[in-house]
Amino acid sequence: MPALKPPKQSIGSQTLWTGTASIGFGWGYFHGTVDDIQPHHHHAVQIVLGLTALKVWLEPAGWRDCQAVVIGANLAHQLVGTGQMLKVVYLDPESHLTRQITRRLRDGWLELNPTEADGLWQQLEPTNHLNLAQTVAEHVCSHPPHYSEAPRSDARIEQMLRDLPRLLTNPITVGQLASRVHLSPSRLQHRFVHHTGMPLRPYVRWLRLSTALTAIAGKASLTEAATTAGFADAAHFSRTFKRHFGFTPWVLWPNQASMWVQVLLAGAVIDFGLYVMHRYSHVQPFLWRLHMLHHSPQRMYWINGGRRHPVSALILAGPALAVLMILGATPIAVAAWLAILSIHLSFQHANLDYSLGPLRYVFCVAENHRWHHKREFEDAQVNFGEVWAIWDRLFSSYHDAKSAPRAGEVGLRDTRVPPTYLGQLAWPFMRSARGSNANDAPRA
Ligand SMILES: [Zn+2]
Repeated sequence: MPALKPPKQSIGSQTLWTGTASIGFGWGYFHGTVDDIQPHHHHAVQIVLGLTALKVWLEPAGWRDCQAVVIGANLAHQLVGTGQMLKVVYLDPESHLTRQITRRLRDGWLELNPTEADGLWQQLEPTNHLNLAQTVAEHVCSHPPHYSEAPRSDARIEQMLRDLPRLLTNPITVGQLASRVHLSPSRLQHRFVHHTGMPLRPYVRWLRLSTALTAIAGKASLTEAATTAGFADAAHFSRTFKRHFGFTPWVLWPNQASMWVQVLLAGAVIDFGLYVMHRYSHVQPFLWRLHMLHHSPQRMYWINGGRRHPVSALILAGPALAVLMILGATPIAVAAWLAILSIHLSFQHANLDYSLGPLRYVFCVAENHRWHHKREFEDAQVNFGEVWAIWDRLFSSYHDAKSAPRAGEVGLRDTRVPPTYLGQLAWPFMRSARGSNANDAPRA
């Protein structure tokens, strides 16, 4: 076994594929070159073919130099890109023909000799699942099975195949599909396998993937494509795609960058989102009533950093977190920034007489954030930033002066915010709250 060892982590989410790809019901096909792929595994059975030897890592076997390899479902593997042209076939493991191929695997994989590999390379054409799986089976199985297409006489299944693309734009159950063609769910599934060679559920999954990729090819966004194909959201589509093919269909987030870079990037998105929503919370009357609870303490105190109405916290952070979700940000990077932020907020609101010197132009710390808590509402419309002062400086809301507000100069000028926790939770929603903060009401 060669000395080369695969990296420990199992990411495999960002890979540069250059070539042509096709997808159909129960199959995927790629012809081109790929970068190195991190170790990963997926649901589809994969056949990788080269014109010369490839370097492939397989979980039970270690590194192998082979021209063609069949990799079973859910088997961890890794491919080292050498710049050479490859043909990669993905087959749904639940179809009749793929099951026959899987029976030939030992320890979940099978290496083809160069003659078999050359023969298979010549014959592979991305046409349909039956054709691709049959071609692979002929080179893999000593007695190749033959799954002949079912006679096209099942009118109800034919009708269903015609209707399915339209029906899949919404969630639909097997029971609902069965009742459309007046069959019981089990009868429908039996007749579907007989007619198509694939069980109904995997067929529907591949149909959704195919529909979404067709939409992306037509310049739809990831979210639009996911919705068109009946996925709950872009993340659901990405997960399903990655589960089948081992990489994400669309990479908007630098998953392979170092974790510090990712944490800072997540931080930039969160910080900007918080700045915008915080500033908006000072001009929109209802948002201000939610947010003014945070401004109500009469002195700076470290725990005030977390003293917020939960709805206000949701409104402040929600947009940035939604953007990060759509971008496919690594959850740990987002969580790391939120941890840093919560500690920072304590220092930002602490009653500590410290100075960061010139760094106060870079960070939103206690010495400049005090201005934001000044009792006079007009004076407090500055320094909205959470961590980085860049947003305040960019959007002209940065304020600095030699003598910051002292004890007795922070809080709200006149308000009747209830003293109890439950009272404060309910207060922004009460009719009486609307007129109680006249002096502090934003001039929206
Ligand atoms: Zn504020």
